[in-house]
Amino acid sequence: MELLTLYFSSPVEGVVAFSTTRGEVDGRNPYSGVNLCDYVGDDALRVLDARISLAMQLGVNLDSMVMPRQTHSCRVAVIDSQFIDSDIQQQEEALEGVDALVTKLPGTVIGVNTADCVPIVLADAQAQVIAVAHAGWRGTAGRILKQVVAEMCRQGAHPDRIQAAMGPCICQDCFEVGDEVVEAFKQADFDLDAFVKRDPATGKAHIDLAAANRSILIDCGIPADSITPPQHCSRCEHEQFFSARRLGTDSGRTFTGIFWK
Ligand SMILES: [Zn+2]
Repeated sequence: MELLTLYFSSPVEGVVAFSTTRGEVDGRNPYSGVNLCDYVGDDALRVLDARISLAMQLGVNLDSMVMPRQTHSCRVAVIDSQFIDSDIQQQEEALEGVDALVTKLPGTVIGVNTADCVPIVLADAQAQVIAVAHAGWRGTAGRILKQVVAEMCRQGAHPDRIQAAMGPCICQDCFEVGDEVVEAFKQADFDLDAFVKRDPATGKAHIDLAAANRSILIDCGIPADSITPPQHCSRCEHEQFFSARRLGTDSGRTFTGIFWK
């Protein structure tokens, strides 16, 4: 399968970060293409097949690929040797309602599944701590990245050294929202002028989710030039990446992962 490489502003040796692309698609089928997410209504065998293909391509075991069951929460789970040694049921419990993962384990691929929400990979090369997060508007308004950076720092990272890169997500022009979403950001003390604009024709608000997450990272002390913005819009490029706005929520997801080789 064809992977989109995500680049940090300065390369981190031994770290691989990527997003899946859909590949060959049948335009009428919202699951068509590579989908690793097993809780969005896709056929379980197709999902397993995609996971096996990706694991083989990355050269890791299937059980070394860890992804949470996301619920637009701000919860972060640490994937450590205790997690790896626990049984499947314990692992599933630890990953339930989690939207970000942090690890120091080499060879363990951590990833999130998205369709328009922002996937973010982070790394501190010196501390050898990596992380991945899923931020839709709820996770962004709840500042999930603040929790992620805090957990990375508990694991030895320092904001000065953390680099971040964002994967394919919805662009501001595509992301029209209701006023209740704008209100949620206002209530959470965001500087709305920095990432909300109104379409003069419709009067509707449009949010730049990537810019909002970038501002959260900068508030955490991460240097602005260490943050790589998304290179693709999932909705504009829905034949390459899954888009819930374009295909409906009953659709596949783009998997964004990171690991130490
Ligand atoms: Zn777009």
